[in-house]
Amino acid sequence: MISFENSKLIQEQQQYAESIAREKIRPNARYYDDYEHEHELPWDFARFIWDTARKKLDSLMPGSVVPDESFMLQMHTTEMISWGDFGFFMCLPWPALGGNAINTAGTEEQKARLRDRFQGDKPTWTCMALTEAHCGSDSSSIRTRAVKDGDSWVLNGEKLFVTSAKKAMIESDGVMVVWATIDPSAGRSAIRPFLIESKTPGVTIAKLENKLGLRASDTAVVLLEDCRVPLDNMLGSHMTKGFKGAMATFDTARPAAAASGVGVARATLDFLKEQLALNGITIRYGVPRNLLSSLERDIVDMEAQLRAAWLLVVKAAWLVDQCKPNTLESSMSKIKGGEVATKITQKGVELMGAMGYSRRLLLEKWMRDAKVSDLFEGTGQINRLVIARRILGYSNKELK
Ligand SMILES: Cc1cc2nc3c(=O)[nH]c(=O)nc-3n(C[C@H](O)[C@H](O)[C@H](O)COP(=O)(O)OP(=O)(O)OC[C@H]3O[C@@H](n4cnc5c(N)ncnc54)[C@H](O)[C@@H]3O)c2cc1C
Repeated sequence: MISFENSKLIQEQQQYAESIAREKIRPNARYYDDYEHEHELPWDFARFIWDTARKKLDSLMPGSVVPDESFMLQMHTTEMISWGDFGFFMCLPWPALGGNAINTAGTEEQKARLRDRFQGDKPTWTCMALTEAHCGSDSSSIRTRAVKDGDSWVLNGEKLFVTSAKKAMIESDGVMVVWATIDPSAGRSAIRPFLIESKTPGVTIAKLENKLGLRASDTAVVLLEDCRVPLDNMLGSHMTKGFKGAMATFDTARPAAAASGVGVARATLDFLKEQLALNGITIRYGVPRNLLSSLERDIVDMEAQLRAAWLLVVKAAWLVDQCKPNTLESSMSKIKGGEVATKITQKGVELMGAMGYSRRLLLEKWMRDAKVSDLFEGTGQINRLVIARRILGYSNKELK
């Protein structure tokens, strides 16, 4: 029988994550959004998570085993911390996107190396570098080169928009996963992921992007100039998965991006409902739609959309925990999560009128932050292509 009840463990950890969101995140969200504080790392928050919170939140500990619901737990934490603030969520010292890649494509030895990095006494981050100037959505046309030279791989290229590159490579002893081609004439089959540890010579954080939102999170241009790593730093070592390995990383990354979007959307909806309650307005659930006010219809519609998005995240996460393929469901959750995040936050600004547009409230910030849910980890259009290919049985070449 299917149960939609959260387990006791999830409920407890959700409550704890909510207390962090309310007490440690919300009061500081505006400071780190200010233009002059962009890229400033919320160190107090990072240290608190590292020293205290992750001992209580299983989902923040790499390699912690929670039978049957490890990824589900992660999605609940993701949603709740993003409800506090999306930018702060992106600053969580936990394995994140780079960790996803290592856990998806790495050998047992490489996964153990990742876990070791997360056992130290200083907060640690990972990042993943796929995007390049001429290759964002079409990640199969990567130009960054990896050339075998004796007992090393030598990497050269430029990566753009790398989330947490500064945190992983400069602020901590973290790792970066870089996707590069070992043979440009061989197309996607020659793409491989490489593990680069912080302080490795030949890696430069060339620029930090100024962004519309998520300003607490650093997003960097990374230069690789004769960056030499040992042969066994190719993830999966002699793996032949190549491009498929990169895509498999997204099977867990996309539901997470969707869960973040749902978190920001729920923050908006919760705020709107609080404001309505303060003004003595109650939503008349169960009353025929044609008798509802326009405002009531807006709220009811947003609630329905939000729930639909969350259920898609839950389905994608459940499949991960059952070790079943979830590429289709992962892309579905990502599209819906991105949509509700952008539409609900925009509606929130609209319904609150001028106050919604003012920096006195967080609504305008949530609207700016939310837009990225529809951009990174595959845009809405790209995820629609993934879904269409899966449903109609077309290959990447047949439908692009
Ligand atoms: C805040 C932020 C953080 C990021 N973090 C990372 C990171 O950590 N690591 C990393 O590698 N990258 C990261 N990215 C990059 C992100 O993944 C890319 O921006 C994204 O993949 C889109 O690529 P692009 O910007 O080159 O857009 P393009 O691929 O040029 O797309 C432009 C537009 O064309 C549409 N489009 C493209 N191809 C098709 C098609 N075949 N059919 C229909 N429409 C199409 C797209 O949907 C989009 O609307 C980040 C981006 C941002 C904004």
